[in-house]
Amino acid sequence: MNRIFSGMQPTRQLHLGNYLGALRNWVALQNSYECIFCVVDLHALTLPQEPDVLRNNIREVAAAYIAAGIDPAKNILFNQSFVPQHAELSWILSCHAPIGWLNRMTQFKEKAGKQRDMANLGLYAYPVLMAADILLYKATHVPVGEDQKQHLELSRDIAGAFNRAYNVEFFPLPDPMIMGEATRVMSLRDGTKKMSKSDESEYSRINMTDDADTIAQKIRRAKTDPEPLPDNVSDLEKRPEADNLVTIFAALSGETREQTIQRFAGAQFSAFKAALVEAAVEHLAPITRRMQELLDDKAQIDAILRQGGERALAIADANLREVKDIIGLLRP
Ligand code: ATP
Ligand code: MG
Repeated sequence: MNRIFSGMQPTRQLHLGNYLGALRNWVALQNSYECIFCVVDLHALTLPQEPDVLRNNIREVAAAYIAAGIDPAKNILFNQSFVPQHAELSWILSCHAPIGWLNRMTQFKEKAGKQRDMANLGLYAYPVLMAADILLYKATHVPVGEDQKQHLELSRDIAGAFNRAYNVEFFPLPDPMIMGEATRVMSLRDGTKKMSKSDESEYSRINMTDDADTIAQKIRRAKTDPEPLPDNVSDLEKRPEADNLVTIFAALSGETREQTIQRFAGAQFSAFKAALVEAAVEHLAPITRRMQELLDDKAQIDAILRQGGERALAIADANLREVKDIIGLLRP
């Protein structure tokens, strides 16, 4: 059986990178797979959170999933902390994950910054919780952006280590699905850094909640270089900001980067950015509108999350019982 699990952290608003790199692919995949889509709120605790803001962000991420086209009746949509088995399996897996494997994780190094000793243990253990999220449901496929590739490889390694330790074939080794033209959308302020929710600069990203004026302002201010657009994709290689804007345009328009370059060869950025604003607004405005409508009825979102949570809990509970039996934890 093929089963998908994926999630996003409710740290601030979702952005165009989350949408083009992951969420939009989920929407396409929901017809061919059994899917579990999670708002990974426990992961969000790796950064300091204001309780009321976090509560609101959890609902907002759920609303973004639905507004983008995820059907909560067909798929399981829930927030991670509703199912305590995530944290429980995370502990069990952490006892099977060598520290050396975790020390290689680049996201920890980036997020911990210079004062690594002051980073919290949760930030360090994040990839193990992510492995637990996936393995708890015995998911076979995980659609993510390119930045999560390393964590997914770790999930596979941990699944393999568990299976070998008990001589079982219990956990499938989950396959990453990194799809589309925009697998790594970069910051609008710095073409060498990925677009992130946790970036301090609002101008680094386009949020799914931004209105047309804000999108226009952010794109107009996006960093570029003085050259017009080239007529060949290979000429974008040393121009990360230009490359990024072309990639975003291509992904929004449903065309390849080559096609976008053909269309805008020799154009100045002023003209190209105007076209990009139009494409972004056209694509995002209906989703943003639907999100706002959904957020007007918080009780309905909570009900959807609760129903999804109960379905997830049933699977998680059965699988964790088996894990406990395999490893010898008595269930009296
Ligand atoms: P944070 O800065 O809090 O880590 P984030 O922007 O990285 O936030 P996540 O919630 O960590 O977002 O990731 C959710 C999904 O979006 C993952 O599948 C991730 O790979 C994908 N994703 C995140 N940023 C990008 C990006 N810039 N381009 C493409 N995909 C992305
Ligand atoms: Mg991230």
